[in-house]
Amino acid sequence: MRQKFVAGNWKMNLTLPEAQALTSEIVNMLHDEQLGANKPQVVICPPFPLLSSVGHLLGDGTNPALGAQNFHQQESGAYTGEVSAKQLHSVGCKYVILGHSERRQHFREDDALLGQKLKTGLANGLLPIFCVGESLETREANETFDFISKQLQDGLFHLSPEDFDKVVIAYEPIWAIGTGKTATSQQAQEVHAFIREQVAKAYSPEVAANTTILYGGSANAQNARELFSQPDVDGGLIGGASLKSRDFVEIIKSF
Ligand code: PEP
Repeated sequence: MRQKFVAGNWKMNLTLPEAQALTSEIVNMLHDEQLGANKPQVVICPPFPLLSSVGHLLGDGTNPALGAQNFHQQESGAYTGEVSAKQLHSVGCKYVILGHSERRQHFREDDALLGQKLKTGLANGLLPIFCVGESLETREANETFDFISKQLQDGLFHLSPEDFDKVVIAYEPIWAIGTGKTATSQQAQEVHAFIREQVAKAYSPEVAANTTILYGGSANAQNARELFSQPDVDGGLIGGASLKSRDFVEIIKSF
């Protein structure tokens, strides 16, 4: 289902008391704002040890909902130090980020592995927020569209239409993540429109019209409104700015 959507990726930040304070601030501010029909689906993705505590502070977990940043591709077993999709679901996670460039880069997550994670996640009731995005080198070589098309083709379009319907796509140009260098709204719109076009070709125009596509990469309280006003930008995946309650809530209000 296509919807306005803002997800906060806390990455490997915050201790338990800091996470509890931030979550309470966000929940209270959102309550005070009374956004009504303008309220997007909000998701908060803390690190594993903080999931349960943050989840308890989110109320019934529908909006804001709880999300995770990763899990292991196997259902269960002898994988010391790993976390399963079923465990995430059991502590209240509804969403999970998959294919983030930091995991592709530092943990060598490739399309084959992501394919397994998509399958295990969906089988255990988790809704994927699936990231794609090009490096600066790829953009400068004018290969952005070919690159994104391949990431979609190899990473996502093997899903059945029923499973694809559960996926939120996040366009995150690597050169914009954590750099303070946001894509212009035109650059974002151009790639979002391209992604929607690829979805239409792979599935159908109806499926494409129903797909939620987020922008991620140094989005903040100042640039969110301009980015979210683009016709194919349905919201954002927010890193740094999701760690400050006022900034995050301002972004949530930017529709
Ligand atoms: C991210 O890591 O998904 C992200 C978008 O980070 P930032 O907003 O800090 O660029």
